Order: sequence, then structure tokens, then C-alpha cells
Amino acid sequence: MWMEGELQALTIRILPPEVSALIAAGEVVERPASVVKELIENSLDASASQVSIEVRQGGLGLIRVTDNGKGLPPSDLALAFHRCATSKVASAQDLARITTLGFRGEALPSIAAVADVEMLSRPADAIAGTYLRLVDGNPVEQGTRGTPVGTTVTVLHLFAKQPARRKFMRSPTAENQHIAALVSQYALAYPEVRFSLRLEGRQALLTSGSGQLTDAVASVHGAEVAAAMLPMRWPLDGERTPIKVSGLAGPPHISRSSRGYVSLFVNRRWVQNRRLTFAVEEAYSGLLPAGRHPIAIVDLRLPYEEVDVNVHPTKAEVRFRQENEAFAAVQRAVRQALLEQAPVPSVSSTAGVAVAQPAAPEAAAPPPLWQRALEGEKAAMTIAATAAPLPKVSLPMLRVVGQIGNTYIVAEGPQGIYLIDQHAAHERVLFEEICTARQRQALDVQGLLEPTVVEVSPRQKEIILAHYQVLSEHGFQLEPFGERTYLVRAIPAVLAGKDLSGAFAEFLDVLGEEAAPDQRDRVAITLACQAAVKAGQSLALEEMREMVRRLEQAQVPHTCPHGRPTMIHMSTALLEKEFRRR
Ligand code: ADP
Ligand code: MG
Repeated sequence: MWMEGELQALTIRILPPEVSALIAAGEVVERPASVVKELIENSLDASASQVSIEVRQGGLGLIRVTDNGKGLPPSDLALAFHRCATSKVASAQDLARITTLGFRGEALPSIAAVADVEMLSRPADAIAGTYLRLVDGNPVEQGTRGTPVGTTVTVLHLFAKQPARRKFMRSPTAENQHIAALVSQYALAYPEVRFSLRLEGRQALLTSGSGQLTDAVASVHGAEVAAAMLPMRWPLDGERTPIKVSGLAGPPHISRSSRGYVSLFVNRRWVQNRRLTFAVEEAYSGLLPAGRHPIAIVDLRLPYEEVDVNVHPTKAEVRFRQENEAFAAVQRAVRQALLEQAPVPSVSSTAGVAVAQPAAPEAAAPPPLWQRALEGEKAAMTIAATAAPLPKVSLPMLRVVGQIGNTYIVAEGPQGIYLIDQHAAHERVLFEEICTARQRQALDVQGLLEPTVVEVSPRQKEIILAHYQVLSEHGFQLEPFGERTYLVRAIPAVLAGKDLSGAFAEFLDVLGEEAAPDQRDRVAITLACQAAVKAGQSLALEEMREMVRRLEQAQVPHTCPHGRPTMIHMSTALLEKEFRRR
């Protein structure tokens, strides 16, 4: 029963400043990596060319960020810890075009609300540094100390007085992984800055600060990946658009089993944006095997007023005024880089022996530390794309010479010999034909004179019920026939004469996988794979010519939809060299 007194306890009151400070701090400082993020951003905003980060006990013991930036005048030190104190914006107009990483004036007071902080800073025109120590958000000590130009912020005993928050922290290793992931992103966004990250005394990351993105990629993803990355650029010469994209896209033969290797920077701010990530993934469609994800570093620049960064306290999300344009530019930049530069793997010679170099196997190195931290955190994407038609790769005119091993088609082109994998090539052809026909709702269907009865498992039955639409879209006409059997009345024409129950089971497996943005592609890939000629099947010359002719029509003739090469190239120059004609 309610008592009068209890009702009165619900009166509205203004919270004491320590409490409101803690609430605000909770939004900015979620975990140790948030502190690192804010401090790095402050260093970058201060034009530092070197940023060193030291972390102990997963950041709960100590986080120290040292930069060589422009520093703060002595009188500003205490001010910097006031809520809403910032040197970066002055008016509401400024908020509409934010050019710095920070602007909320919240980070330092928030950090000081949940940790003990010391700041030591020396601007270029001072002969010594000033330091300020704060406990519970209040200055307790200030003085001067010798130090190089720049700023050092030391954060001690993070969350020591917030046992609830501390309880949510995972192990120091997990927190360190988050920190490593984060610093890696900033290292990629700012290749001209030399980043050093030491975790528990170990050097976890060190970049050169050379200004070359490939150098930063080498420090983060390894030299092998860095060497293979393809530069991208949008717009191409002559096009006028306020949106510019540059960066590096991984070639299709380097892929990863999880998302999270796509780094997005908008006006040099590291952001997380599902749609843009999806734009990148889309650009790889048909080039990567199902379930594989690309590595890419995308640097998107657009007029400041086109982006709203004041969306979230951690500033990790942004909104675009014209999201579709940004989406299309990113997708085209990546696609263009892939189509222009991911070559037909060619045969090169080593010490006189011809060695094929098709798609190199993925570097066997374990995923970098930071990636493991991200794994599992990226939810599946469910946003539909507004994909514009993408440019097509062209194939030289090829003349079929013959077949070898009932598996490869030998063809001659203007630049030498092409060996075509008949299954991979046919798969590519069928895949694109299926996608086009499906779009036009004109997929060829083959009615069965004698309906086939298929028996399904309970799980398969659930899948059929859930995906009836997709099945019929692809040409399967099914009719319930008893508890766990279906009558198949029609099938996709490409499957005529193939092993129906095998293909159908494969199909259901793909549909039963967790809904992925590329599910429809995967369905088409499965169909193409089931329908394509197999290795070991002998083909007549006319059939091979037909296959090559259709391959020439394909948008992406060089790889099968799983991402394997459809052909390898042995150049005339190589032949001449090997036969010592030159
Ligand atoms: P914001 O970055 O949003 O302005 P912060 O609380 O992070 O807010 O920082 C407050 C102010 O302190 C900044 O505006 C800046 O003037 C100063 N500052 C913080 N860190 C540094 C640094 N490493 N070098 C120079 N100035 C700094
Ligand atoms: Mg800041």
C-alpha cells in the first residue's frame, strides 16, 4: 500500500553535480578504450605528429597518452576539466561544420569524474610544463615541471569508485584488445602520425608516421596484406562531385571470415556506419566466396556541413545529409579499384620453371589482436542497398583451342594463352544470368511431366515454410504432399537433368543459414554451382566456344562467384622468355 510519505519521495529535484557528472561520464566513458579514444582525439586535434599510449591492467590501472602537439597554456589547464569547456567550437554555427574530432568539451571532465587524472602540458612558447592533478574531479595539486612541448594525460584507478561499472569490465586482456583495435583504427586514419601503443609493457603497435597509408596498413594488418592492397580513388578524372573517396581495398584473394576489417573514416573521423560498410561489402559481391569479408580502408571526404557528427556522445556515429550519394561513391570507388586492378592471375616464371600464381591463399597469420576483440560484436547487417549498375570488366576476344584433362579449356587471346577452369567459368556465367533473369522476374522454369516427391526433415520443412517465396522466385514449384513430403512440380530450368534432390537440399541449407545481406546471392551461387558443368566432363568444341562467348558477356569474368579465378593467363612475353626467343 502507498503511504503519503513514499509518494512525496518522488518529487523532482536537481541532481547534485557529482551525480550528474557521473551520469554524463557514463555516456562518454563506457570502458577503458573510451578513455584512450578521447585522449587520442585530443592529441590529434592538437596537431600532434606523435602519440604514445601506455596501458596497464587493461586500462583500469593506468592509461597514459603523451603527444607532441601544441599544448595548453598554464591558465587553461583547470578550465579544460570544466564541463562544456572547449577551445574547438564557439557558436551554434560552428556545430554545423565541425572540423575537429572533439567539440563537446565533455571528455576531460567525464574522465576526471571516474578516475584520478594528471595533465602535464607545455605549449611551444613556455619554458616548462604545467601540471594539474585532480581527484574526484577536483584539482588537488598544480605546479610546474620540465617536459618537452606537448601534453601528457595520465589516468589512474579508472572506475575505482564505480564498482558497478568495474564489474562490467571483462578481463584486462579483453579490454586491451578493445584498446588495440581502437588505436589501430586511428593509426590507419592518420598515417602521418607516429603511434606507439604499449600494453602491459609490451609494444603492441608502432607505426612509422611516414604519411603512407600502406605503411600504416603494414603495421596493423601485416606487410603481406599491405603489399597486396589496391589503391582506390573516386571520382575519376573530370567528374565534379563534392564527395571524394580514397584509401585501399583488399584484393579478392585476401578475405576474412568475419566483418570488422572495413575501416571507415569520414573527414578523418573513424566512424561505424552499417550502410557504408555494406556499400563496401556490396562492391565485392560476386568476387568473394560466400561468408568471406573484405579488408578495406575507406577515406571519405565531404564538405563538413554535409555530415552531422553531433549524433552520439562518443562521436562514433555520423549522419549524412545525402546518404545515398555517399553510399554510391564508396561502392564505386571500391568496385572500380577491384575491377581495374584485380588482374587475371598470370603465370610467371621463377628460375626457369613456370609457376602458376592464381589467387594466393589467404595469409595464414592469425587475425590481429584487435580483430579478435571485435569479433562477434558486429551484428548481421540487414540494410538493403540502393546499388547503381557497376562498371564491367572486359575480357579480350578468345579463340578456343581445345580442352585438357576434361577440366580446362585452352584458349588463345591477343596476349597469349588463357587456361579456363570450365566449372568456375560456367558458374560465373550462370550466376550472372540467374541474377539478371531474377531481377526481371524471368527465370526459366522447367515443368516436370512427372512431379517428383521429395522427403524433407523437420528442419528443412521449417525452412521451406519460411522461404517459400524465395524458392518460387528461383523456379521451384512445390506442393505440400503429406506431413513431411512435397511434390516438386517445376524446377529452375538450369537444373534440368541434374541431381534434383541433392541440389534441393543444398538450396535449403543456404536458406537455412542465418539471414545475411547476401543471402539472395548465395542462393543464386548455389544454383549456379549445382547447374554448372563439372570438372572431368568432356565438352565439345562448340560447347566450349559457347561457354567462352557467354563468359565474355559477364560483368566479372575473371572470378567465379565463390571468388576463385576462372582463368589464368600465360603471356606471350612469358612464352618467348621461356623458349629463349628473346
Ligand atoms: P573537446 O575535445 O570536446 O574540446 P575535451 O574535454 O576533450 O573537450 O578537452 C577540453 C579542451 O582541453 C580541448 O578543447 C582542448 O583545448 C584542451 N585539450 C585537451 N587535450 C589536449 C591536448 N592533448 N593538447 C592540447 N589541448 C588539449
Ligand atoms: Mg576531446
